[in-house]
Amino acid sequence: MPRTNAPATDPDAGPAPLDAAEWRPRTLAAQAMGHIDPATRAVVPPLHLSTTYLRDPDNAYRSGFSYARPDNATTREAEGVIAALEQAEGGALLFGSGMAAAAAVFCALSPGDHVVAPQVMYWGLKRWLRQEAGRLALTVDFVAMDDLDAVREAVHPGRTRLVWIETPGNPLCTITDIAAVAEIARAAGARLAVDSTAASPVHTRPLAFGADLVMHSATKILNGHSDVVAGVLAFAGADPFAERIAAIRATWGAILGPFEAYLLMRGLRTLPLRAAAQSAGALHLAERLSAHPQVSAVLYPGLPTDRGHAVAARQMTGGYGYMLSIRVAGGEAAAVAAAARVQLWKRATSLGGVESLIEHRASVEGEGTPCPPDLLRLSTGIEDPDDLLRDLDAALRATQAG
Ligand SMILES: *Cc1c(COP(=O)(O)O)cnc(C)c1O
Repeated sequence: MPRTNAPATDPDAGPAPLDAAEWRPRTLAAQAMGHIDPATRAVVPPLHLSTTYLRDPDNAYRSGFSYARPDNATTREAEGVIAALEQAEGGALLFGSGMAAAAAVFCALSPGDHVVAPQVMYWGLKRWLRQEAGRLALTVDFVAMDDLDAVREAVHPGRTRLVWIETPGNPLCTITDIAAVAEIARAAGARLAVDSTAASPVHTRPLAFGADLVMHSATKILNGHSDVVAGVLAFAGADPFAERIAAIRATWGAILGPFEAYLLMRGLRTLPLRAAAQSAGALHLAERLSAHPQVSAVLYPGLPTDRGHAVAARQMTGGYGYMLSIRVAGGEAAAVAAAARVQLWKRATSLGGVESLIEHRASVEGEGTPCPPDLLRLSTGIEDPDDLLRDLDAALRATQAG
């Protein structure tokens, strides 16, 4: 008799599945961990929209779920995939955006705590820190994270509680040595958090280099289809700090909704393939654009001549990421004019989607940005890199001509 409602531990289900820790990332992602829905035998994890869960007669919640604001089944499923990809033994927490995830980390600190953050980091988070750190009674020092002596000097043992880094850094593609900063942070009794949005777990696993937590704007390559805003934190191990962050998410209602989590999981299935293709495309563009007469500089850690290449080669595997920046000979006006002329590239903000995007970044970041005015930030998608190159080349040449 066919069984339509077999429990997960059905003895007829065949041999016990391999421990997920034995699966390679591509396999984990492709099968979204290989979970089969115990109720229906569905191969694709179901989308659970319910906001509330039935209590058992003895008043317990045996499912582990009670209400969808602290936690819900579909969001937890997507968290499981990301935690596996990051090999995060402390699990992962999804938020309604990358900013919500990052803000929860800073809000989990205590009044009087000192934070060290990078000079070059996601501008929205830097602006938020500048505006809100005082209200949270945090003090923040912004340092050049590729200068380890400066990092050592900025960290105060016993007072510094968090070092925040971002590698590669948006939009200058600066590389930070995760293992070296982790050691400095640990020696001072501080935690290290890494914004790894531009690397993805395919190319870097910061927890393996000693970070305590890793953050992603899952809006970018994790989802990869420019149709979900989401953020995630993944933790190296059990940590009271992670519990405090989970409590903040639960009470402030910052959790990612199940529908977005479902779409994110769909995107995650192809993450390793997309990341490999996008990184290969970015490297091809970086190499070719380095020799372009209208390009004065290419910022990309995959280039052997790049300032961050040696460290990037140590901590990144399988590619150097989908983000690169170019500086246009002729300055700001030429950069804006070139961006105005592209056809295939889309003039839009954001990163990591399957479609390639181009942006004059200084106009977005405004006053006080470390981003030079002649810089265009490129997010390489999965199109044929030679088509992307032809389009950009034509735009740059037309700009020079007139
Ligand atoms: C986009 C981005 C963020 C912010 O994420 P949202 O999902 O837009 O809130 C943070 N860090 C980096 C590096 C980003 O690119």
